[in-house]
Amino acid sequence: GDEALIDGSAFTAGERTARRKEVGVLAVIGRPNVGKSTLVNRILGRRAAVVEDTPGVTRDRVSYDAEWAGTDFKLVDTGGWEADVEGIDSAIASQAQIAVELADAVVFVVDGQTGLTQTDERIVRMLRSAGKPVVVAVNKVDDQAGEYMAAEFWKLGLGEPYPISAMHGRGVGDLLDAALEALRGAERTSGFLTPSHLRRVALVGKPNVGKSSLLNQLAHEERSVVNDLAGTTRDPVDEIVTIDGEDYLFIDTAGIKRRQHKLSGAEYYSSLRTQAAIERAELALVLFDASVPISDQDLKVMSSAVDAGRAVVLVFNKWDLMDEFDRQRMERLWKTEFDRVTWAQRVNLSAKTGWHTNRLSRAMTQALESWDKRIPTGKLNAFLGKVQAAHPHPLRGGKQPRILFATQASSRPPRFVVFATGFLEHGYRRFLERQLREEFGFEGSPIQISVNIRE
Ligand code: GDP
Ligand code: GDP
Repeated sequence: GDEALIDGSAFTAGERTARRKEVGVLAVIGRPNVGKSTLVNRILGRRAAVVEDTPGVTRDRVSYDAEWAGTDFKLVDTGGWEADVEGIDSAIASQAQIAVELADAVVFVVDGQTGLTQTDERIVRMLRSAGKPVVVAVNKVDDQAGEYMAAEFWKLGLGEPYPISAMHGRGVGDLLDAALEALRGAERTSGFLTPSHLRRVALVGKPNVGKSSLLNQLAHEERSVVNDLAGTTRDPVDEIVTIDGEDYLFIDTAGIKRRQHKLSGAEYYSSLRTQAAIERAELALVLFDASVPISDQDLKVMSSAVDAGRAVVLVFNKWDLMDEFDRQRMERLWKTEFDRVTWAQRVNLSAKTGWHTNRLSRAMTQALESWDKRIPTGKLNAFLGKVQAAHPHPLRGGKQPRILFATQASSRPPRFVVFATGFLEHGYRRFLERQLREEFGFEGSPIQISVNIRE
């Protein structure tokens, strides 16, 4: 069977085959404990609880590839989040608002057993102003006798409430039919598919590294910072930015421009946005503030992009503040902390002065080319044959695992499947990756190698 991946990165992008079209992005929102996670798990057909790294701050993933009745869509999950007690009401509404902004249509989950609450009503007000299609799911209606509970929710004015039991699956099919109908009819606001010919870029990095400044610099204009979480402004979520004559679609620029607010859970919002932007992007521009020490949060953002299988360009910003000492510190860091991404291009620049921003375009083009690249099977096998002859796998228990055949199963990012007669050691896989990179390039793109054992 398939073994672990060569660089330990979870492979998500390539599993998403490009054969079918996704109809859009569906967000599942509602206050805590109404059953959002249970519903998301039900839709995805899995029981496993979603992993939470740090309670109350980040989640493993926020967006998933889902399928119902032959239609693919993206599912944005906001469940599993414990809000701080302080300001819980507004925090939930804000969190839901971000999800709604990112989505084309919304499933609003309420608890049929508890009935309507003030938080529910607050969310409804936000939903009205957002103007996205909404389907109301009245959860925890576990049997037919409970269906009357749904009727109360007509008064939300959001149309027919669908009684469901996320736990038992009851009514979920009808709900999904209605939700996908809403998605198909929705104006495609998430930018997930349109404009489809542009490469999609996520500009990511922790607060204050200079994302907004770089965006301004690239767009050659001052932008107003929107500091209004109540959602009265209608920023475009995605924007077209021209770099060196090439148009790119920058994902969720509204989130970049929005000033970091001091509300509880601010980190969570920014992490949610970052994750969602990465999921929708092809290329991640990962920004660091080179003038201050690199933090775990910086590296975490970078790992998210790599783990999601995106093309990556690393941008070391605020170079204008660096003296000789800082530059040496940076070089040492590069050799240690960035060990995992030696394949990525690094651009040192200053978003403030514009110094070296003209170097971005080449790095981006290169990374995307690598990401798209396909190596013909004949060429791949001829090369691996030579590599193996010169450097056979070390003996294991008197046996020598041999590579029989290899093929590139997919691109974006490149994914190779190697058929071998036995387990290939981690070190040997790393060696193979280095050889492949040396021979074929792939600068700026993660690559994945999985080994399939035959015999
Ligand atoms: P979230 O915070 O909105 O993501 O809610 P969860 O999915 O974590 O569910 C909260 C609680 O409600 C859990 O104890 C679930 O087992 C329970 N729950 C979820 N769906 C149902 C349902 O359909 N019926 C019943 N009776 N309980 C449910
Ligand atoms: P964001 O939170 O990542 O969008 O960061 P901002 O673009 O808002 O920048 C945060 C702060 O860093 C602001 O005060 C910027 O003026 C400053 N800044 C951004 N880029 C540079 C740079 O290249 N050089 C210097 N000296 N300051 C910068």
